[in-house]
Order: sequence, then C-alpha cells, then structure tokens
Amino acid sequence: MAFDRFGRHLHYLRISLTDRCNLRCVYCMPEKMTFMPSAALMQDEEILRLTRVFARLGVDKIRLTGGEPTVRPGIVALVRALRQIPGIRELTMTTNGVLLSRMAQPLAEAGLTRVNVSLDTLHAGKFRRLTRWGDVEDVLDGIQAAEEAGLQPVKLNAVVVRGYNEADVVDLARLTVDHPWQVRFIEMMPFAGATDFQRLMLVTAAQMKARIEAALGPLEPLHNGRLDGEARLYRLPGARGTVGFIASVSQPFCAACTRLRLTADGHLRLCLLREDEVDLLTPLRQGASDEALRRLILNAVWRKPWGHGLAQGDAPQDRTMSQIGG
Ligand code: SAM
Ligand code: SF4
Repeated sequence: MAFDRFGRHLHYLRISLTDRCNLRCVYCMPEKMTFMPSAALMQDEEILRLTRVFARLGVDKIRLTGGEPTVRPGIVALVRALRQIPGIRELTMTTNGVLLSRMAQPLAEAGLTRVNVSLDTLHAGKFRRLTRWGDVEDVLDGIQAAEEAGLQPVKLNAVVVRGYNEADVVDLARLTVDHPWQVRFIEMMPFAGATDFQRLMLVTAAQMKARIEAALGPLEPLHNGRLDGEARLYRLPGARGTVGFIASVSQPFCAACTRLRLTADGHLRLCLLREDEVDLLTPLRQGASDEALRRLILNAVWRKPWGHGLAQGDAPQDRTMSQIGG
C-alpha cells in the first residue's frame, strides 16, 4: 500500500495520455501551443507496465486525462487493456466531450466506468470564446451519448473565469434540477503560460455559490458539508442532481488528497501545484525491473508535499495543466 509521511493513502492515479488537444481553452494553453514530440510520450505498453506496478501498490482508481485523452490513437484498446489489470476497480476519464458522441459507446464497451465532461457554459458564443475553437453542440451531443452508453453518473466540470462565464454558473447549476448529473464548479488555478491572466480572472467558490443561490434558491449541503473527493456537494431544492464546488485556490483540500499523477511523458508528479516530479519513463526505458520502479514510486510518494503556495504567489511554472493532466 502506498502511504505518504502524513498518512495519506494514495490509491488514485491520474494518467495524462497526451498533451495534445482539439481545443485551446484560454485558461489552459496558448493558441499556438508547442507539444512534446511523440517519442517523449508514454507508449501503450509503458502505460500498462507502470499501471500494473501502481496497482500492485494498492492503486485501485485510474482517471485518464490529458490534454484531450480521446485524441490519443488507439484509446479504446488502451482502455480495454487497462480495465483488465487486476486491482483496478474504477477507470474514468476527463474529456472535453467533443468526440464523445462517437466514442462513448466503444469506450463503455471497452470497460470505461464513467466520464467527467468539461463544459464551462451553455452559450455557443461564450463557449467559442473560452475554448477558442469549440462548438458547444458537439459537447452536448457527447454528454447525451455518454448517458446513453451507461457512462453514469455524468459529471460536468466548469472552470469559472471572470469576464467570460461567471454569470453562466446559474444556467449550468439549473441543469441539475432535471438531470441526475453532478455539475462541479472549479476555481481557476494559475499555471505556466497564462499565469497572470489566471490570477486576475479568479472567481472564488463562495462568489459562485452566492450567485447561484441568489438566482435559484438555497443550496442544501450534502454529507454534512464534508468533502466528497475534492468537491463540496450541495443540492438545489427538489433537484435530481447535485452541485459541487472545487475550491482548490481559496480552500485547498490537501488533507483529503489521495492522488498521484503521471504526466504524459511518464513523470510521477506528486502535487498538481508543486514542481516536484520523479521520472519513471527513463528508468523504464533503460530496463529497470518492476521492483526498481516500485521502489522509485514508494520513495517519491513518501515525500508528497502538503499544501500549495498559491496564496504566496507561488504557482507552478514548469508545465501547463494539459501536460500534467489536471
Ligand atoms: N481535455 C480534457 C478536459 O478539458 O476535460 C481533460 C484535460 S483538462 C487539463 C482537465 C481539467 O482541467 C478540465 O476540467 C479543465 O477544465 C481543467 N483546467 C484546465 N486548466 C485549468 C486551470 N487553469 N484551472 C483550473 N482547472 C483547469
Ligand atoms: Fe484542451 Fe482540456 Fe486544456 Fe481545454 S482544458 S485546452 S479541452 S486540455
């Protein structure tokens, strides 16, 4: 079992399958993004090998992310192979949903458990402005396809950006009245590339919640107000679904963190918001045994940090969100 020195049980691994994407969200990457060369990215066999080592260390939940995981060639076969690894009980994906209308069914058949779809607004013009290239109808079709394929419960992720979509939290929260979805609002985090923009445009979870309550009525806390994963969950009066807030900047949830992250180039990243990483891919390519990889992982895990430095203006400069995987 992988525990860190604070006693946190690290059983949840997020794997970035690629740094590439078919959108260019303003808070995530510049329009003219430079991507890593393909040879630097983990190949399928390398992802499977590392995942087997992690599974033997007690990792039971995997989230595939990116960049955009659905643009990775051979993604369906990779999902099928990951699902067969003993010990992996949950295999989920975070996606922008653009390709889901045709990929939801094959992914579900391959064993994907469910999806989180990123959707920051229902308004076509604002969606285009936020994503630079996207068509919101593609995402809405994707969400429907995910539901029909049984990738449930569908969770929607919305990053809220001042001057772009802060008013849209109301329409997005309203979706939970008729749909059994979890709509989660995320505070924007500062990362290399667009850090100043991200700091200036932050909307806090408290501000989002106040806006939703003013329009739609009181949000009733669930689980006695305790965290569910990284989100605090609420329900609108009579709603089928739930509303969540992920306050990574204003109220960090480090005590509840059970995550490890594998970057697209095979580095174990110990905290999303800290630059400390351990390269696993180079030793793997140089012939390291499973036991050697296991030791590397356990040594790294032990020093997983506690707390990020955003409040002190300390934002990660080494990578964009799309390289780490969110
Ligand atoms: N492309 C997929 C997607 O957008 O869902 C998966 C990768 S994306 C990097 C993972 C999540 O990170 C998305 O929900 C996205 O909205 C979020 N994200 C990206 N940049 C962010 C930032 N600066 N602050 C907070 N969340 C961010
Ligand atoms: Fe692509 Fe996701 Fe980043 Fe948007 S948030 S640019 S969809 S990786």
